[in-house]
Amino acid sequence: KLYNQVQDLKGNIRVYCRVRPFLPGQSNFMSTVDYVEEGIITINTPSKYGKGQRSFNFNKVFGPSASQGEVFSDTRPLIRSVLDGYNVCIFAYGQTGSGKTYTMTGPKDLTENSKGVNYRALSDLFLLAEQRQDTFCYVVSVQMIEIYNEQVRDLLVTDGLNKRYPLFRFSQTGLNVPDASLVRVATTSDVIDLMNLGQRNRAVGATALNDRSSRSHSCLTVHVQGRDLTSGAVLRGCMHLVDLAGSERVDKSEVTGDRLKEAQHINKSLSALGDVIASLAQKNSHVPYRNSKLTQLLQDSLGGQAKTLMFVHISPELDAVGETISTLKFAERVA
Ligand code: ADP
Ligand code: MG
Repeated sequence: KLYNQVQDLKGNIRVYCRVRPFLPGQSNFMSTVDYVEEGIITINTPSKYGKGQRSFNFNKVFGPSASQGEVFSDTRPLIRSVLDGYNVCIFAYGQTGSGKTYTMTGPKDLTENSKGVNYRALSDLFLLAEQRQDTFCYVVSVQMIEIYNEQVRDLLVTDGLNKRYPLFRFSQTGLNVPDASLVRVATTSDVIDLMNLGQRNRAVGATALNDRSSRSHSCLTVHVQGRDLTSGAVLRGCMHLVDLAGSERVDKSEVTGDRLKEAQHINKSLSALGDVIASLAQKNSHVPYRNSKLTQLLQDSLGGQAKTLMFVHISPELDAVGETISTLKFAERVA
């Protein structure tokens, strides 16, 4: 029993690494990934970085051929715990182009098999809720917001993204962004419609060279309220599914103005997230939640009884090796 409790505590933060396959047209490229085995990834570092190999340890490593279904299968227990009243955070971290959106949402032309974690999590949630319908009555609602330059925007609006939303905890409902649209959903197709709306909104103002989606954090939050049909007791759980802004460092000598400001905001919020998770992993008594909007938003779902899963993504190309190593170092620190 005690052993199980200890295991559970250790299991509250998990880090999985996923390697993107080469894209069409890159079939003869050399990979920086030398080897993937159970929980270990080994990177070949070219001479510029001190020629040799470096290995990193995670709870799990998914190689380039891992399917969306395989990646999701280890996420399942988290979905169950949301229905049990726990809070859960699932993140996608990595440089732009490494596969974050692919993991969370899927590719542009979505098929049943290529659906990402968000869709699978919601359909599992509905399925499990249905299985429990004799004992529990669940209400599921979603919010979808974006954090861009430390400002919170509602992605589920139909009248433009100009409004900015305050962030505070509204204890009565447990909502952290009480003014952002909260939409009740009952089926996976409701969720698909909403996610499409959110994605369209997220792309507003973006051009090929100026893709804002890679420089903002998007967060799909699923609120679950369950009423025990016998006792009448109500439990609440929530799940944040976060597609983080690209983690690549920009060269300060090359960008100025808005681009530099964005980069600084991203840098600040990702390091704040790293600091929070690392201090939770080390069981520090002080956890620095206040340093960014992202960590404030997720505060009650990071630490305590909450469960956290971080998918860190890497690109296999040689010219990405600098970012790959810094991504793996970031992840190693929180693992
Ligand atoms: P990010 O969101 O990190 O910027 P994307 O998810 O947009 O990266 O991925 C970049 C490209 O690589 C997209 O065309 C995407 O469909 C493709 N891709 C990413 N991961 C995979 C994967 N595991 N299998 C196949 N294609 C992938
Ligand atoms: Mg993306």
